[in-house]
Amino acid sequence: MNPQKRHEIFRRWREAAPHPKSDLAYASTFELLVAVILSAQATDKGVNVATRKLYPVANTPAAILALGIEGLTPYIATIGLYKAKAKNVIETCRLLIERHGGEVPGSREQLEALPGVGRKTANVVLNIAFGEPTIAVDTHNFRVANRTGIAPGKNVDIVERGLIKFVPDEFKLHAHHWLILHGRYVCKAQKPDCPNCLISDLCEYKAKTPDPLVQSMKKSAAVPTNLPAKARAARVSKALPPKRSATKASRPAAVKKTAKAR
Ligand code: SF4
Repeated sequence: MNPQKRHEIFRRWREAAPHPKSDLAYASTFELLVAVILSAQATDKGVNVATRKLYPVANTPAAILALGIEGLTPYIATIGLYKAKAKNVIETCRLLIERHGGEVPGSREQLEALPGVGRKTANVVLNIAFGEPTIAVDTHNFRVANRTGIAPGKNVDIVERGLIKFVPDEFKLHAHHWLILHGRYVCKAQKPDCPNCLISDLCEYKAKTPDPLVQSMKKSAAVPTNLPAKARAARVSKALPPKRSATKASRPAAVKKTAKAR
């Protein structure tokens, strides 16, 4: 993909969602850190359900440490891998108190030394809480980077390096969110919504989902011309989709949803 295309893609995403935000609910850097640890291989929605109950009871390293694994587990038991995550969160709280005065550190090295905090989690925290232009690569932006051609790569490390190299500096701070939002709501894993995609004319994915209207038009064009007019009209009408208005309306709605969701 050439630099002009990449720039235009991010320009459109910025225009659609100038201030993208995480879908995770949090009110402090510590709450963000715990939410990101809990979100590994889980949905943000599921994590929010758990933290909505947990944080009013305990939202500091000392308070969660005081709960202990047994006290924390009931709050997060609906989240996948909760046993390992409970251990990691408790141990992280202990280390935050012992090494960092109960604060979340702002360096990659110190973050990655915490249990349950890998490169991706550190990238998210550094980006959202400390304003660093890091780009965390998860399943969504890995897919979008590859399909579109923005930064193709066989694994998350290659894609992250590609994104850091190719995303223009002016978009780096929010690139992670725009990519995730696009992957979560538009460029979905099973069936990307290419007909309503803001960047479909720039995306280099070869197997785009066809526009149902175009498909119908093709079908209707295939109606034999030697049919009587009435029969031909009936065939064409049958081939056309019920209403185009819903599809049209979904374009700005999808973009609005994206903007609102963050
Ligand atoms: S055109 Fe399709 S494949 Fe390309 S980014 Fe949009 S939704 Fe994804």
